Amino acid sequence: MKKNIGIDIGGTKVLMGVVDEQGTVHAEKKIAMEPAKPPKEMIGEIARALKKMLEDAGIRLGEIGFIGAGVPGTTNTKTGIVEYCPNISWVDVPAGEYFRQALGREVLLSQDSWLAALGESLFGAGKNYDSIACITLGTGIGCGLIYDRKIFGGGLGTAGELGHTVFVPGGRDCPCGRQGCLERYSSGTGILLEAKERYPDAFSGVKRTEDVFELAYGGNEPAKEVIADCVDKLAFGIAALVNLVAPQAVVISGGLCVHEELVVAPLEREVYRQGYVAWTRKKQFRILPAELGSRAPMIGASALYRGI
Ligand SMILES: [Zn+2]
Repeated sequence: MKKNIGIDIGGTKVLMGVVDEQGTVHAEKKIAMEPAKPPKEMIGEIARALKKMLEDAGIRLGEIGFIGAGVPGTTNTKTGIVEYCPNISWVDVPAGEYFRQALGREVLLSQDSWLAALGESLFGAGKNYDSIACITLGTGIGCGLIYDRKIFGGGLGTAGELGHTVFVPGGRDCPCGRQGCLERYSSGTGILLEAKERYPDAFSGVKRTEDVFELAYGGNEPAKEVIADCVDKLAFGIAALVNLVAPQAVVISGGLCVHEELVVAPLEREVYRQGYVAWTRKKQFRILPAELGSRAPMIGASALYRGI
């Protein structure tokens, strides 16, 4: 079976892997991401690590059919230009050209949350549906839209910015420069912020979002209340998304998707309560936990040629 390579360039690490056409990972390597390094140098380093991974696995670069890469921000697949990735300080970077120089091969690029959506659509929780949205809950809220098994980027190439949609006018400051974006309330980071803001004394020693969840599982009422309110806000966002785009399913990815009882199930209930009756009455829409875990963007990147 043909083997491809997927690369997931994140804020702190770069994950790469040899993946076959059924989504099975055959070799994998992780290196540190250094946003302070000039992008051309960093891509040179990624290329060296990739060659080492192949060498260790006994695979020649010539045997690889396709190479795709994801970055945490807006990217133009056609031009190979990473347009806007503030968290790794890459703005208008000709990454496709740099990869070509470093590897002697064409590398197609896309946004990581779009690739996670493609991966889940082809090989994971979304494989029984033609059209899905995949929402990644982490430090922010990523969102990829798959329509008819293809990535939907919109006419501007920036579709899916649910996390930076303002839900609380005049609300919390967002690194994007505005106030009240959904990801400041309903991401993993948002839940922790909400807990500390609402109950400063009770949560003063709490450092991680997971600690808020542990307290909630132990019956702590403030923790349960904070999580429920953050999930409700996200449900408004998802109900609006389904009203507009009508995917058959929304896949919840990222660390929070393991919380079936506190996140996934209440989210589906709330989205049904808030969504428009034209689609809620059909009872076909589902909210599902992701199946590919943190490898989703890498696996999706290896199959980018199928999603464009
Ligand atoms: Zn924002």
